[in-house]
Amino acid sequence: MQEELQQVQQHSLERLGGKPKIAYFSMEIGLDRHIPTYSGGLGILAGDTLKSCADLNVPIVGITLLSESGYFYQKLDEEGNQIELPFNFNINDFLTLLPSRASIIIEGRTVNIRIWYYLISGIGGYLVPVFFLDTNLEENSEWDRELTKYLYGGDEKYRLAQEIVLGVGGVRAIEALGYSTIDKYHMNEGHAALGTLELYRQLGDIEKVRQQCVFTTHTPVAAGHDQFDLSFAMPMIGDIMPESLLHEITFENKLNMTRLALFFSHYVNGVAKKHGEISRQMFPGYFIDAITNGVHTPTWVSEPFERLFDKHMPGWRSDPYTLRSAFSIKKQEIWDAHMNAKRHLIDFVNNRYNVGMNYDYFTIGFARRQTAYKRPDLLISDPGRLMNIAEKVGAVQIIYAGKAHPKDEGGKKAIKKIFDTMKNIDGKVKIAFIHNYDITIGKMMTAGVDLWLNTPRRPKEASGTSGMKAAHNGVPQLSTLDGWWIEGCIENITGWSIGPRKTQEKESDDDVDRNELYRKLEQWIIPKFYNDRDNWIRTMRSCIAINASFFNTNRMIQQYVLNAYFI
Ligand SMILES: *Cc1c(COP(=O)(O)O)cnc(C)c1O
Repeated sequence: MQEELQQVQQHSLERLGGKPKIAYFSMEIGLDRHIPTYSGGLGILAGDTLKSCADLNVPIVGITLLSESGYFYQKLDEEGNQIELPFNFNINDFLTLLPSRASIIIEGRTVNIRIWYYLISGIGGYLVPVFFLDTNLEENSEWDRELTKYLYGGDEKYRLAQEIVLGVGGVRAIEALGYSTIDKYHMNEGHAALGTLELYRQLGDIEKVRQQCVFTTHTPVAAGHDQFDLSFAMPMIGDIMPESLLHEITFENKLNMTRLALFFSHYVNGVAKKHGEISRQMFPGYFIDAITNGVHTPTWVSEPFERLFDKHMPGWRSDPYTLRSAFSIKKQEIWDAHMNAKRHLIDFVNNRYNVGMNYDYFTIGFARRQTAYKRPDLLISDPGRLMNIAEKVGAVQIIYAGKAHPKDEGGKKAIKKIFDTMKNIDGKVKIAFIHNYDITIGKMMTAGVDLWLNTPRRPKEASGTSGMKAAHNGVPQLSTLDGWWIEGCIENITGWSIGPRKTQEKESDDDVDRNELYRKLEQWIIPKFYNDRDNWIRTMRSCIAINASFFNTNRMIQQYVLNAYFI
């Protein structure tokens, strides 16, 4: 075992002539469809980030919780009621246990942590280890043993305890593993913020901690930031909380994880330009930069496009800028690759749900966390109008997917509404809802539909990334101008917008947006798809050349290296 650990370290050391310098903390990391330790955008981004680090030989290690029962497995009954089942995975098939242990104190109890690892192998063979923290040890109390079982499960107390494991336990795990040269701790969202207190305990100097900490915030909504009443949090956290700093890092008698991370970080960023702006307004007095998210190019390009890119743009995997030259690919070849990906998706949907979808019909995709602000039901909110468009302008079919958080009643209602509409719309617009959205379904959908739809209420979408996956497969997006789309949308060239313009400060209005959504489909998008195929494929090509070449984690991580890590 010790040997294996040494191997991990040696592997990571081999190609850079140094030791890992950055530890990347994330409550969830989505690496592989078989490892269900992620719930959505945040986790996929973390996985994609570490994969690009491996491709670019960036000396980094990932830290997360084991989440041995995953987020949850989603079943849906005929009415669209969501049933949540534990999503256990065979840990030994995918992860390797290490001999090193760490321990922390929660509510005065010692909690021991064991550590599993997974190795990401980059394009050139460079290895980035990801460490999974696990408290399911016999010597721990029953309650503590469950702390790394459910991702985002349980109550407030469970959450805070998980954050102690991730933050404090994570910093100690890195030391237990013998990594002595880590000098940047990157917190992907505030869940790991308590790690700063452990660093402060060790270093005893605020500035020294700051030099080592980088914080990426992901939430443009004040209520979305984790916070805990001090009277509740203090006994949980114990003496790692420095009395002398209490007035600096607590606000209104609450320990706010975002504030804590802000206080102790020398570099802070939002995940799209607009989100940076909003974060600066939300947290005046801090310098908050913006680095726009991306997706890991080799992960999200479907097989038919892989073949096409290999033929015309060799080297695109290690250098996605290469995708700029997609402009020189013949339109017919783009279309053929697309139809390949589309048939794969339609076959899957027809086999599984018996909906009789057609390869040639205009197909809209919508898949993401089902929650009210993303308005999953905006497209079907006027079924009469939708049926009318399908009848008069051109056939339409819609494919949905997405989980609602177990406690998100609004999200669950939206799923039910989609199911209701599915029945009432009488087959005039075929609708399917794919169960248990995950990496595989995300890839199949973003590659296989004709149009990717995104309808978040401004300004609540920090970035969004699924539209970037679509762009990697030549699929244009129709979306409100929020998050990354403010930067990615060139009207009628990479896709289309809904609602207030880029330069307007307005929030979304459901009626206005609904109208514009239908109007654009009716007057621009569907006619272009059916009657002006040549120009439609031009748009597809622009998605690859203009958007995929930029909105990838390869570009993104280079910005982190320059702006956040090496200063
Ligand atoms: C990409 C992805 C997400 C994030 O999608 P957004 O559009 O950014 O919300 C969520 N879940 C899965 C499975 C994904 O692949």
